[in-house]
Amino acid sequence: MNQRVKGVLNLSDRELYCSPQICFGGYRSAYEDSDYVILGIPFDYTSTFRSGARFAPNQIRIASLNIETYSLRFGLDAEDLRVTDVGDLDVSGDVEETLRRIRGVVKDFIADGKLPIFIGGEHTLTLGSVKAFEGEVGVVCFDAHLDLRDDYLGLRVSHATFMRRICESIGPENVLIIGARALCREEAEFARESGVNIINMLDLRNLGVKRSIEKLRRFINSQERVYISIDMDVLDPSIAPAVQNPEPEGLLLHELVEFIAECTAKASALDLVEVTPVYDNGMTCIHAAKVIYEALSSLEARRKRRT
Ligand code: MN
Ligand code: MN
Repeated sequence: MNQRVKGVLNLSDRELYCSPQICFGGYRSAYEDSDYVILGIPFDYTSTFRSGARFAPNQIRIASLNIETYSLRFGLDAEDLRVTDVGDLDVSGDVEETLRRIRGVVKDFIADGKLPIFIGGEHTLTLGSVKAFEGEVGVVCFDAHLDLRDDYLGLRVSHATFMRRICESIGPENVLIIGARALCREEAEFARESGVNIINMLDLRNLGVKRSIEKLRRFINSQERVYISIDMDVLDPSIAPAVQNPEPEGLLLHELVEFIAECTAKASALDLVEVTPVYDNGMTCIHAAKVIYEALSSLEARRKRRT
C-alpha cells in the first residue's frame, strides 16, 4: 500500500505496516466494500500421489506479495481493485461435510454480489463451489486430466471423479475441459458418449491458441454465466512443477491467460487448485499468483468497460 492510499484511508503506521495475517496481494478492503472475495480452501484428503495442496493457499499468498501487480496486458494495476481475502475455510475431516461448507459459503458470496476466487486445495472442492450455483452455470476447466472416472480407489467423490459428478449435476454439454492430455479408457469412452466438450492438448497444438479460443468463445456464448476452474497441472511442469499429478506437454502461462481472458466475459467465480508447495522450486506459486492477478485484471477491465 502506498502513501497516497494511506492518506485516503487515514491509517496510522501501525495499521499500515503491521499485518495480522498473510493475505493475498495485501488486499484489505472491507468485505462489504469488495467486488472480489478470495477464500483459501486447504483441503487435500482424497489426494493420491503428491499430497500437500492443503499448504498452497498461504504459499500462493506469500508469492502474491512478492511480484508486481501492474498488468501490462490489461492496462491497470491490480492493487487498485476492491478485493478482500477472507482467510481459509475451516475444513472438515469428512469430505462431504467440507463440500457442504464450501457450498454454503459460496452461496453467501453470491447472495452478497461478490465474485469469489478460491485457492485450493485439491480439485474436488470445485464440486462444492459449482453446486452453489444450483445448475445456473457452465464450467470451463483447465486441466491436464479429465477427472471423469466414475470412481477411483473406492471413492466416488475425489479429485479424479468430481468432474463426472459435475456432469451429472449440470449436464455434460455445459462443461468444457481445455488442455487435457492424460486420461484412461473409461474416461475416453465417457467423453465420447456423453458429449462433454473437450479441447485436448493435441487439438490445441494443431489448431493453435487463436482458433482454440474461437471454440471456447462459442461455448461461452452458449452459457448465461461461467465458472472457471484452473487445475495448475494444465501448465507445463517445466514452469509449474509443484502439482499433485504432473503431466508433460502442458500450456505456457501466457497461453493460459489468453484463454482465461476470454472466459472472464461471463465469469461468476474462479478457482485455482492442485498446487503442492513442498515440491516447488518457488516458481509454481509465483505462476499461481500471477494467474490470479491477471484474471482479476481481466475481470476488472471488463467491469470498467461495462460501466
Ligand atoms: Mn489435473
Ligand atoms: Mn484436476
